[in-house]
Amino acid sequence: MPSAFDRKELRSYARSKRSEYEAVLKKIVEIPSVSVEPERKADVRRAAEYAVSLLKSFGGKAKLYETKGHPIVHGRFDRDPKYPTVTVYNHLDVQPAEGPDWKTAPFDFIRKGDRYLGRGTTDDKGPAITALFGARYALEKKVPVNVHFLWELEEEIGSPHFETAIRAQARAFATDSVVVSDTVWVSRSRPACPAGLRGLQGFRFELQTGETDQHSGTAGGAARNPVTELCALIAECVDGKTGRVKIPGFYSEVVPPTKKELADLKKCGFTVKDFKRDHLFRSLRVNDALEVMKRIWTMPTFEVHGIAGGYQGPGVKTVIPPKATAIVSCRLVPEMDPKRIVRIVRAFVKKRNPDVKVSAEHALAPYKGKTTGPYADAIRGAMKFAFGKEPVFVREGGSIGAIVSMERVLKSPVFFLGLSLPEHGYHAPNENFDWPQAEGGIAAFADYLRRVGEMKK
Ligand SMILES: [Zn+2]
Repeated sequence: MPSAFDRKELRSYARSKRSEYEAVLKKIVEIPSVSVEPERKADVRRAAEYAVSLLKSFGGKAKLYETKGHPIVHGRFDRDPKYPTVTVYNHLDVQPAEGPDWKTAPFDFIRKGDRYLGRGTTDDKGPAITALFGARYALEKKVPVNVHFLWELEEEIGSPHFETAIRAQARAFATDSVVVSDTVWVSRSRPACPAGLRGLQGFRFELQTGETDQHSGTAGGAARNPVTELCALIAECVDGKTGRVKIPGFYSEVVPPTKKELADLKKCGFTVKDFKRDHLFRSLRVNDALEVMKRIWTMPTFEVHGIAGGYQGPGVKTVIPPKATAIVSCRLVPEMDPKRIVRIVRAFVKKRNPDVKVSAEHALAPYKGKTTGPYADAIRGAMKFAFGKEPVFVREGGSIGAIVSMERVLKSPVFFLGLSLPEHGYHAPNENFDWPQAEGGIAAFADYLRRVGEMKK
């Protein structure tokens, strides 16, 4: 077993495999595995079947596992039960792709110099194939690890069957750690790994005060107006200007970022200008970069997604509506318990407006990763080895249900080794990936596996 890899040799190995890499990526990108579209069900399956044959062609054992939705794929390169097992998670389903903004056919794999265009190239087929090539190098070099691949085909629809499926296979999928490659750096200049994801708790607030529309001339003044009452209730829950949640106890479980985390945020390459441009915002609540990052990654929110009720047509129709609905959700940060949030929101609404019916909608627990310890050090070392710079540990504002499921069911720590860049157009038209990220990624995965192999099981 090598005590270190030679960066030059590994890079030139990656380059020697480039045409093979591109052929594999082309094959998988050209299977339109759009998990949300029922008419693509056969294509999603075809992607899973291709993935099984690909893992086998690399010398692994691989199997397709049925779920109540799309299948999942598990591949294994087992060397010795005494060695630590690393499971690499990626997903092979993709977002829908159509519309006039695509400059090329989304399911044609097109190479333009170092750039690879096509739906799924960066999210998440390119990183999946990159990890596979990196693992092959590590295994050829006799690194003492067992490497498993867990490839999901329902990530883009919220992983509805993933937890049940891995629970049913908990023994076959047993692992010592998981590494996920499905995240985006903050900027090309600096590798970044998320060390936490926000969770989510959705709500519907409904208020009914009558049976039909009434005339504001004849009843207005005495009649209750459910739209107005919901607006008042929401204003009691959250300060619209600052976003500060006013429900007592809402912030009590929030763990503030450590000094080291804040230092990492400061050097991750985030700028308010890019953030505003990427999201087409005219203005923000705050204009300081660190404050924006703290708000989108490390703080919970109370957001109103829509209020429905009353007249929505042209002109003014002077009705008093009989009922109104507000769709609300809270993004949750590590240590916040969705069930407790449901309890305190219900209790608060009951006190302020007992006629409002609160229904709790779907929940996702937040995820807190580790930024210290041997695995985090292995990620740091491997990224530095491959890309020349240590990664910064940041957070993600969104939620990935599969991560929490893997931690819970496989009882293994989960780490991130993402390779995508902001300019790759995650979920956007003209999605792309590039060879420098693939070449660096092959080196990073090989070196990460070598470092994990050095750990005692
Ligand atoms: Zn993804």
